[in-house]
Amino acid sequence: MENLADFKEIVDLIKDNGGEAFSRCFECGLCDTVCPWNRVTTLSMRKIVRQATFGLTEIENEEIWRCTTCGRCPQRCPRDVQQIESVVSLRRIATEYGVFPTPVKPVRTASASLVAEGNPLNEERSKRADWAKDLSVKTFAEGMEILYFPGCYLSYDPRLKKVGRATATILSRAGVDFGILGAKENCCGESIRKTGEEELFKRLARENIKNFIDNGVKKILVSSPHCYHTFKNEYPEFRVNFEIVHITQFLLELISQGRLKLNKEYKKKVTYHDPCYLGRHNGIYEEPREILKNVPGLELTEMPDTLADSLCCGGGGGRIWMETPKGERFSDLRLGQAIGVGAEALVTCCPYCITNFEDSRLNLEGGEAIEVKDITEIVLETM
Ligand code: SF4
Ligand code: SF4
Repeated sequence: MENLADFKEIVDLIKDNGGEAFSRCFECGLCDTVCPWNRVTTLSMRKIVRQATFGLTEIENEEIWRCTTCGRCPQRCPRDVQQIESVVSLRRIATEYGVFPTPVKPVRTASASLVAEGNPLNEERSKRADWAKDLSVKTFAEGMEILYFPGCYLSYDPRLKKVGRATATILSRAGVDFGILGAKENCCGESIRKTGEEELFKRLARENIKNFIDNGVKKILVSSPHCYHTFKNEYPEFRVNFEIVHITQFLLELISQGRLKLNKEYKKKVTYHDPCYLGRHNGIYEEPREILKNVPGLELTEMPDTLADSLCCGGGGGRIWMETPKGERFSDLRLGQAIGVGAEALVTCCPYCITNFEDSRLNLEGGEAIEVKDITEIVLETM
């Protein structure tokens, strides 16, 4: 790091990379009191921000890769330090200097697969629409009501394909005129951007935008809160504005319009987990709860750490591709909370949350006491 020896140079680099607000920190430490890492081990955002202010940041410090960008600490910061932008700016600098989180392999593999195939899962681009093969899902054509953008995990991951299939089945049965882009679809790029790979994000975003424009797309329906966030709040950086709708918003609209009726009973006690990128980052808290309240027989109960205080599953900020040792997984705590309130099903609507909760369910003692469900799976079962 010889060429980074001058602290002023580092301070300037951080500012140039979007972390200009870090110097406002007055070290109150409120960020550390809410950070979920401090429930399982330690992470001091206050310290990271303080060191950045004085150009003393060591980009080899593993701590800069821990933040899941959950959004809890920016909520509490009295000085609007914008901790997420600050930490991502450090990751951008690290990435530029060839420093990556250890073990290096998972994130590098995800990134190489994004470059080669447009998804982080090492899957072939040509198989991107295979999940929908026998469902007679149409290819999107200009003039259709909506483009459905399932995203990478719902396209390829065996557990999450069920969610994509449930979604497409509900849409068809409700008479929605929708289509998909299939192999033309790219990863939205949200999470790789948070790992510091800015150029790769821009490349993925530009390709998606070109495809949306070329195909006459105006309204996009997404399943992942990460796609929702980047399409709605980050793609406008490219001077485009598509109408973005999350599946929970769309399903509630269909219910309110009478296009979707939930008639069958679901006689279980369930609890809803707010994904960080749907709730805290985008303020969508009520729609999923309203859908669940429309399900006959379903008893909805709340966990501790709910709504704006929701406990992160651990998958944001690119952490879905990094290794988290047993004992440090937030999803284990969350599953424990769901079991603790007597829920028979933990319901959510984010592919990372489902992945982490299913993993916790399999690995935690007593985990089999609860089911992990995407909200679309409950809707399909009860319509
Ligand atoms: S909450 Fe904000 S001002 Fe307080 S220590 Fe954290 S970053 Fe600094
Ligand atoms: S955004 Fe979340 S994980 Fe990152 S430092 Fe803040 S509270 Fe911790």
